[in-house]
Amino acid sequence: MHITIIGAGVIGLSTAYYLHEAGHEVTIIDKGDGKNNCSFGNAGYISPSHFIPLASPGIVAQGLKWMLSSTSPFYIKPRINASLIKWGWKFYTKANEKTVSKNAPHLNNILQLSRNLMINLDHANGHGFELEKKGCLMLYKTQETASHEATLANEALKYGIETSILSASEVQSMESEVKVDALGGVYFPIDCHLHPVKMMHTLSNSLVQKGVKFCYNQDVKDFIIHNNKVSEVITNKGNFPCDHVVIAVGSWMEVLTKKLGINLLLQPGKGYSVTYADRQNNLNHPAILVDDRVAMTPLGKELRVGGTMELSGINQTINMHRVHPIIAAANKYYPDIKLTVPSEDKIWSGLRPCSPDGLPYIGPSPHHKNVTIAGGHAMLGVSLAAATGFLVKQLINHEKTAIPMDAFQVDR
Ligand SMILES: Cc1cc2nc3c(=O)[nH]c(=O)nc-3n(C[C@H](O)[C@H](O)[C@H](O)COP(=O)(O)OP(=O)(O)OC[C@H]3O[C@@H](n4cnc5c(N)ncnc54)[C@H](O)[C@@H]3O)c2cc1C
Repeated sequence: MHITIIGAGVIGLSTAYYLHEAGHEVTIIDKGDGKNNCSFGNAGYISPSHFIPLASPGIVAQGLKWMLSSTSPFYIKPRINASLIKWGWKFYTKANEKTVSKNAPHLNNILQLSRNLMINLDHANGHGFELEKKGCLMLYKTQETASHEATLANEALKYGIETSILSASEVQSMESEVKVDALGGVYFPIDCHLHPVKMMHTLSNSLVQKGVKFCYNQDVKDFIIHNNKVSEVITNKGNFPCDHVVIAVGSWMEVLTKKLGINLLLQPGKGYSVTYADRQNNLNHPAILVDDRVAMTPLGKELRVGGTMELSGINQTINMHRVHPIIAAANKYYPDIKLTVPSEDKIWSGLRPCSPDGLPYIGPSPHHKNVTIAGGHAMLGVSLAAATGFLVKQLINHEKTAIPMDAFQVDR
């Protein structure tokens, strides 16, 4: 078939990889130039440790507390917006123990599958993603967070995920080049990390070489539909006839799928990152500073620091009030790295596509015979990209899927 994928983020590229491998002719359309989207500036974690969906008990109370502080890691821009209200209500109703027990096994399935596939994908691409199997540290400074993280570590064991609870000196012994100031941490050896920019470049270059066609700076506006099938994709620069369409447009998913009459709930969750080059002394391990929701990723000689979740619609403006606490948290946990806040033009922002129940949407359109949706991966797009691409290929080819897919259905 000739398959058109809309969106050249990590989800679109991974999907192109598996569809091309299966013998399909693939075209990718993106409204951008392929040099930046949410898939470039993220922390690069492959995180089976994140098997608890974002909508979980306690998160709403914590979110409301954070809302009262201008420097907290979470913010909702107050506004009357029907889609935000519907999303917020769904998130509220899903943030409970029952939904977590139902969804966590599915999230675990897809995270585990994706980790293994991403390792293979990095290998197949000459280790161009610079994927490292070094695990991830969850660091904390308070006893309360230590107890919470220990509970999660216990929960992880139920899924066969190995963890170690570390004292302050055990954490320090894992970091030979920098001083760590933490009460302790939980170590997840199963986690991996990669260099997001190198992964995106390596994957897109390799797809070009294989014959996948990229059409940049083409904004998909609408679709021509005959007999419940999309026959053409309409862009600002012309029409693309196709046999099948995969919609992988990240945070723009809700807007674009509306054109097909699909009512899918999704909010962009803005985050920031700063990448420091040429570090003389760098971290050995990626780490999440749990109380501050900050992610630290060593990428060779570079150090990337990222965080915040702002629900303020589709906009990528930089709010320096929210950037300062990210860098302050990094300096608090690693007192001798002495990071400074750069000027606004050196700060990256990206939009995480957040579904209200913490699971991605992967599956056929409820109304069309030849449309597949792949999006809503929130803070796990890199972690879940390889499995998403692989599963989309299986669905389109009518193969038995590697894992049960009901939990990811678009109209769940
Ligand atoms: C600070 C931060 C840290 C993160 N850290 C991690 C991490 O460590 N691990 C992890 O797994 N995830 C992480 N994430 C999340 C991850 O980056 C995202 O889930 C992922 O990049 C989403 O990929 P995507 O392909 O769905 O969307 P995107 O990368 O946003 O790509 C979507 C593409 O669709 C295109 N598009 C949109 N509308 C149209 C249209 N109408 N026509 C044509 N093209 C269109 C856009 O131009 C864009 O290029 C992080 C995110 C942030 C912000």
